Amino acid sequence: MQVFRYSQAHSLDGAVRSGAAPSASFIAGGTTLVDLMKLNVLTPRSIVDINGLPLDRVESLPAGGLRIGAMVRNSDLANHPTVREQYVVLSEALLSGASPQLRNMATTGGNLLQKTRCYYYRDTNYACNKRQPGSGCAALDGFNRIHAVLGGSDHCVATHPSDMAVAMMALEAAVHAQGPKGPRAIPLEEFYRVPGDTPNRENVLESGELITHVTIPALPTGTRSRYLKLRDRAQYEFALASSAVVVIMNGSRIQRVRIALGGVGTKPWRSREAEKALEGQDASGKNFRHAAEAAMSDAKPLKYNGFKIELAKRALVRTLEETTQPA
Ligand code: SF4
Repeated sequence: MQVFRYSQAHSLDGAVRSGAAPSASFIAGGTTLVDLMKLNVLTPRSIVDINGLPLDRVESLPAGGLRIGAMVRNSDLANHPTVREQYVVLSEALLSGASPQLRNMATTGGNLLQKTRCYYYRDTNYACNKRQPGSGCAALDGFNRIHAVLGGSDHCVATHPSDMAVAMMALEAAVHAQGPKGPRAIPLEEFYRVPGDTPNRENVLESGELITHVTIPALPTGTRSRYLKLRDRAQYEFALASSAVVVIMNGSRIQRVRIALGGVGTKPWRSREAEKALEGQDASGKNFRHAAEAAMSDAKPLKYNGFKIELAKRALVRTLEETTQPA
């Protein structure tokens, strides 16, 4: 296996060229790729090491908002003063992920691209359409307690595991990528694909496209946000259900709200239904529950994961209570 290393600003084009080779894989923190190579799940022919590229800064944008380099480590982003003060939902989501050691290694770009925790994907003894297209899906008739109730198909029902991406979805972030055809910006809401009949294609990146940074718009003064993650144990565990809420109040009314759910969808799940149910309405338990019902109205339970539907509703109601109560 060949390993290419890039460490200068002008090397970005070289990294993209190397990354476009057949079966090449970029490596940043390595917290997903190395594990999956050890398990023989991912078997790249070449690895493009981008750790030396100058993509490790968090910068304020002139018109407001943040520009977060793809190589910014999760722990650095979570503890960045602007993120802690203005983007609470993002800091909380990052700090709820994995362990301190992993957060010190994991990067912004890698976190967006991390692979599912579906047991069958990670075990080559089982059929998995995501790992080997056309082989089947062992989870559909298997132990599917951690799997998705939103966005699944007859080919795959794996959840996306990122907490950070759920928060970024509620913050209406955009992913910026550099590829053989040049740079482009992709709204995060359009970045991930639902599995359909090609679960091996998880996002809209083309071969060789490298995430360079993420931008997050400025939030109006007075915006409140929270992230709530529900899981089997308090640390080092993935979400069974999570919710990210970004809200602007006008007195006791909800003026504007953005909602995303984690742990329940095949991608970080923005709920426009819940947003629509809440905007212009009073912040009340009845309205929160109505919004939660709307968010999960399309949910389809499998044999073992039906409990996630009520769990996600309660997570959302709780997060709405916490973000809308008077300061
Ligand atoms: Fe593979 Fe998706 Fe089925 Fe899991 S749910 S076994 S990732 S196809």
